[in-house]
Amino acid sequence: MVAELISVGTEILLGNITNTNARYLAEECAALGLSCYTQVTVGDNPGRLEEAVATALSRSDVVILTGGLGPTEDDLTKETVAKVLGLPLVEDPHSRQRIEDYFKKGIHRPPTDNNWKQAMIIEGCQVVDNHNGTAPGLIVTTAGEKQVILLPGPPGELYPMFEEAIRPFLEKLTSQIIYSRTVKIGGMGESYVADQIQDLLENQTNPTIAPYAKIGEVHLRVTARAATKKEAKKLIRPVIRELKKRFGKSIYTTRNEVTLEDKFISLLEKYGLTVTTAESCSGGLLSGRLINVAGASDVINRCFVTYANEAKQDLLGVKNSTLRKYGAVSPQTAREMAKGAARAAKSQVALSVTGIAGPGGGTSEKPVGLVYIGCYVKGHTEVIECHFSGNRQKVREGTVARAIDFGRR
Ligand code: ATP
Ligand code: MG
Repeated sequence: MVAELISVGTEILLGNITNTNARYLAEECAALGLSCYTQVTVGDNPGRLEEAVATALSRSDVVILTGGLGPTEDDLTKETVAKVLGLPLVEDPHSRQRIEDYFKKGIHRPPTDNNWKQAMIIEGCQVVDNHNGTAPGLIVTTAGEKQVILLPGPPGELYPMFEEAIRPFLEKLTSQIIYSRTVKIGGMGESYVADQIQDLLENQTNPTIAPYAKIGEVHLRVTARAATKKEAKKLIRPVIRELKKRFGKSIYTTRNEVTLEDKFISLLEKYGLTVTTAESCSGGLLSGRLINVAGASDVINRCFVTYANEAKQDLLGVKNSTLRKYGAVSPQTAREMAKGAARAAKSQVALSVTGIAGPGGGTSEKPVGLVYIGCYVKGHTEVIECHFSGNRQKVREGTVARAIDFGRR
């Protein structure tokens, strides 16, 4: 079965936004066993969109369009698909009610006239509710048994709708269940991980293992196809067991939805510990990532961003002599920062970060990308030395991921 993606929006053509929807949908189609030979991007132009839809229908079984379902004049996807299929647009009372409720509860003002445009659907289609916006998704089965799927452009609306309704629909269509689990590994690079499982990667058929490199971590998505979920799970189980054997404690979760910071925060909760941070080069990025976790307030009461030496002394009690003798970027300073932060915040756990994010400030002894991370746990402090490559942002993000991974161990 062949799928084709059409991304609609002049802002994509102009390079104003990155087409992450196509990346997401292509990956999902591949996992579903749909062959995707063509992706098209077209601006908000009815003539060219019409041509793209007609062409896609002539060569593909499933056509997925994203974008152009909004309330404004330039949002023309629905109208154009209806024209190509020769079907009328009709008002869907269910969607009208949902739009009304959405405005009442979420936006606290009445809908404008053009919002009602979004309650119009292509006659005979299946409506997919949008819980994060107003535009419903549509699934149209054509006279020739092809599927045209229309989804809104904003990723925050598209992804949940795909997970909830489109993936199950496509699974039924391809008459197979796709089930995947993600083995998430902290503190290792992609090439090292891939090297450790070269034999598994070479001989894979079902389940398959797909490595994805993230900043500071590697995800291995293990995907099985089977007639039922139970069978798919059975296929996946031995692979997960083998990966656990090879990567041991470096694996922090095998659940798709759990992030590194979720894991760290939940561990602290489990042991009834509180944590604080002392950040220099990461400048609040570490605290921000931890506080992003719902429930962080149970384990964090304060965090320190101590960029200048004086701040490290004033707020954390780092000794002037330590800074003078070893410098701010040193294992000694990282150690005193972690201890001092724990004392000042009355926390049992503290993470500290001090390093050179670049682009300037590096020397041959202390190059850009050198970072010391300290971890204090109930009177015990350990410090690791790390070397990150890339620009300032990459060094800072890599540092934060490494610090959280260090903490959760
Ligand atoms: P809206 O109701 O917001 O107008 P829409 O379905 O009409 O939604 P568009 O107007 O095409 O969608 O896009 C709205 C926003 O969604 C874009 O400004 C962009 O932020 C995001 N978006 C659209 N298409 C993509 C895409 N292919 N990849 C990533 N983001 C996208
Ligand atoms: Mg729009």
